[in-house]
Amino acid sequence: MRERFVRIPGLIDTHVHLRDPGETHKEDFYTGTSAALAGGVVTVIDMPNNKEPITTFRRLEEKKELVKQKAVCDYGFYFGASEENSRHAEIEVLNRVVGLKMYLNLTHGALFVSNLDKIKEHLSSWPKNKPLLVHAEGEKVSMVLNLLKLSPRRVHFCHISLKEEIEQIKKAKEYGLPITCEATPHHLFLTEEDERVLGPFGKIHPPLRTSEDVDALWRNLDVIDIIVSDHAPHTKGEKLSSLPPPGVPGVETTLLLLLTAVSQGKLTLERVVELTSTNPTRIFNLKPAYESWIEVDIRESYLIENQNLKTKCGWSPFEGKRVTGRVRRVFLRGQKVYEDGNVLIKPGFGRKIYG
Ligand SMILES: [Zn+2]
Repeated sequence: MRERFVRIPGLIDTHVHLRDPGETHKEDFYTGTSAALAGGVVTVIDMPNNKEPITTFRRLEEKKELVKQKAVCDYGFYFGASEENSRHAEIEVLNRVVGLKMYLNLTHGALFVSNLDKIKEHLSSWPKNKPLLVHAEGEKVSMVLNLLKLSPRRVHFCHISLKEEIEQIKKAKEYGLPITCEATPHHLFLTEEDERVLGPFGKIHPPLRTSEDVDALWRNLDVIDIIVSDHAPHTKGEKLSSLPPPGVPGVETTLLLLLTAVSQGKLTLERVVELTSTNPTRIFNLKPAYESWIEVDIRESYLIENQNLKTKCGWSPFEGKRVTGRVRRVFLRGQKVYEDGNVLIKPGFGRKIYG
């Protein structure tokens, strides 16, 4: 039997929305990266759909300056694809971001590329060696795969959630396309039945799916390259409003849910490390963080409770769920930065990766 206390690499969460700048009443870079540490995450890559989308060099630089004194874990940024910036004239952006994010479906914020020529331009002009991520749902997944068959390049599919999507991606990988994909804990551990109970707190893009879809993800776990939180906080008030925005927080519960699945024999701890550290490091061209690790208690069983969360929004769709596994300590670049609920370092300790 495995030891109760285990040391594993810190998680690299390549899909978070920390809302800073522009919507810091939901989350800011300090609370968001504190929540990351509490979840055993040592590096986050932040999405570009800020209130003013990160689609120009100027906005990217402003964001960098605004958040650098707040971070307590390491972090990087994505650049946002728009219908205006598909030729990437601002080449200086390239060395300052981890990758390009292209939204092919509408979600929270204004970022959206619908024109087919612009989509093709982005796919051909973004450097082939740099990650290009797509938010594509349903038929948009098929559309991108068809474009890639004509003109192959690396593409990473965000939050795959449907049976048809994972089956298409499996086939495309077998065909030889250089693609990768991710799944989120809410699509692996919740279904549309839960949405009925959660109401607006279960509203998200892509939406929670049927148990058949969830089973298909688990059955094809070998096709999924990484697991990310898609941490997308909104306040309780916003969620209870007449137009609740899509998104749920998750950066501090991803590992707990995965460790619980390990305790139930649904996957191995080694596979969790691949999905949350080894594979994201490789796919996103990151330097291996040998000096960053976490210590977890894989036996402790307890309930996820809103009151114990560090995210500013103060709630989780998993509240009340029993989990097995707790993050005890987090070490970042050799230094102990988190222990038993406490962040031990000052804001600004987190470093920007890339540029
Ligand atoms: Zn997202």
